[in-house]
Amino acid sequence: MPKLEGIDNADKVIDYQTVIRDKTYLGENVAIMGAGGIGIDIASMITEPHGQTLDDWLHDWGIDKNIDHPGGLYPFPDSTTDTNVWVMQRKEGRVGKGPGKTTGWIHKKTLEKRGVHLLGGVTYDKIDAEGLHITVKGESKLIPADKVVICAGQESVKPFENQWPEFGDKLHVIGGADYAGELDAVRAIRQGVELAAKL
Ligand SMILES: Cc1cc2nc3c(=O)[nH]c(=O)nc-3n(C[C@H](O)[C@H](O)[C@H](O)COP(=O)(O)OP(=O)(O)OC[C@H]3O[C@@H](n4cnc5c(N)ncnc54)[C@H](O)[C@@H]3O)c2cc1C
Repeated sequence: MPKLEGIDNADKVIDYQTVIRDKTYLGENVAIMGAGGIGIDIASMITEPHGQTLDDWLHDWGIDKNIDHPGGLYPFPDSTTDTNVWVMQRKEGRVGKGPGKTTGWIHKKTLEKRGVHLLGGVTYDKIDAEGLHITVKGESKLIPADKVVICAGQESVKPFENQWPEFGDKLHVIGGADYAGELDAVRAIRQGVELAAKL
C-alpha cells in the first residue's frame, strides 16, 4: 500500500482484489495507481462493453465482415466506453511497457481505443474528496476520480515456514507464494516443474 495522504479513505480508495472479486461499481471517473499487468487488466475489465455480441466485438476491432471497406477494415472503430479511466505509473516512459511481451500491444491498443489515459512519470500527492492529486512534469494536476484503484504491487504471503518448522527441508514454497512481486506465471510453472523433477 503506497504511503500517501488520504490512502485510508475507504469511500475513495479500493484495492484491485476487491474490484475483481466483487465487481464493484467504480463510478464514471476512475484513477488506477500502477500500470503493471494488474493495472492494465483492471483498466481493460472496467471499460469492457456490456452485453457484447460477436458482431459488436468485430466492429469494435475494426473488422468489416461485409468487406465494404478496403481490406475489410473499418477506418475508425468507435470508442466503446463512458467510463473515464486514468492509468498511472511513477516510472518515466511508455506506460504499459512491462507486461505481456507478446500480447501487451493488444491490451494497450484496446485501452487507447477506449480512451483510457495512460500517464507516466507521475508523483502521487494526495487523495481527497475531489479525487487524486498528482504532479506530472512539474505540474500539479487533479484526477477527478470517484474511485482510486490501487494496483501498485503485491506482497508474498508466506505463512508456512513459521507454521510447520517440523517439515524442515521437506517443505517447498514455489510460485506466487514464494514471490508475488511480478506477474509471472511462467516462473511459477518453471519452479513447479523443476521441483517435481528434483523430487
Ligand atoms: C490480475 C492478475 C493478472 C495476472 N496476469 C498475468 C499474466 O498476464 N501473465 C502472467 O504470466 N502472470 C499473470 N499473473 C500472475 C499469475 O497469476 C501468477 O504468477 C500465478 O498464478 C502464480 O501461480 P501459483 O500456482 O503460484 O499461484 P496461484 O495461481 O495463485 O494458485 C494458488 C492456488 O492455491 C489455492 N490456495 C490458496 N490457499 C490454499 C489453501 N490453504 N488450501 C488449498 N488451496 C489454496 C488458491 O485458491 C489458488 O488456486 C496475474 C495475476 C493477477 C492477480
